[in-house]
Amino acid sequence: MVSRKTNWRTIFESWLNPGKWLPCQCWQCGQALWGDSESPFTNLLCYSCEVNLPWIRTHCLRCAQPTLNPSQFGCSACKNFPTWHLDECHSVLRYEDSIRESLLSFKFSQQERLRKLLGTLFHEGLMIKGVELTGPLVPVPLSNSRLRQRQFNQAQLLALEIQRHISTLCLPKTNPITRKIQGSSQATTLNIEQRRKNVQNVF
Ligand SMILES: [Zn+2]
Ligand SMILES: [Zn+2]
Repeated sequence: MVSRKTNWRTIFESWLNPGKWLPCQCWQCGQALWGDSESPFTNLLCYSCEVNLPWIRTHCLRCAQPTLNPSQFGCSACKNFPTWHLDECHSVLRYEDSIRESLLSFKFSQQERLRKLLGTLFHEGLMIKGVELTGPLVPVPLSNSRLRQRQFNQAQLLALEIQRHISTLCLPKTNPITRKIQGSSQATTLNIEQRRKNVQNVF
């Protein structure tokens, strides 16, 4: 039965929300999105903003670094590591420009908008490459102390958004595989070699 009770809060919020009565705007440059100017996939960015993102077209299947000659045997950078524990590794955008800014803002301030944008772009990148994901989706956990400090795990939030797009993935209610048993240093300012050392023996 439909409730006849008036929800004044919803009415007030929808009245305040410009998206209800103004054309949607590109989430990056603010340009109004009118049909042709929309990017074909996300409907969140204009065509120009979306095609100018630092997309990774081809990458190494072992370390996910961008490379012109993808090979399952690894690129020149990761051939020095003969032991490998992954079947494949994929990346869709380079960590630079607006993507770096968006990831850092999302990581430290949990903006709902950025969660939606980053999750959607990840899904788009996979579709462009023809990568199909199935099975459990396991976000990298945070240590308890970092979780208390930040109040949220950005990887968990992003996984929720990705799972919303890709129904063949399932997100276990409790993280079954990995548990961070000790804190590591903030990775934001580290280079690749420092990052590699930073995650040794922490899971
Ligand atoms: Zn734009
Ligand atoms: Zn590689």
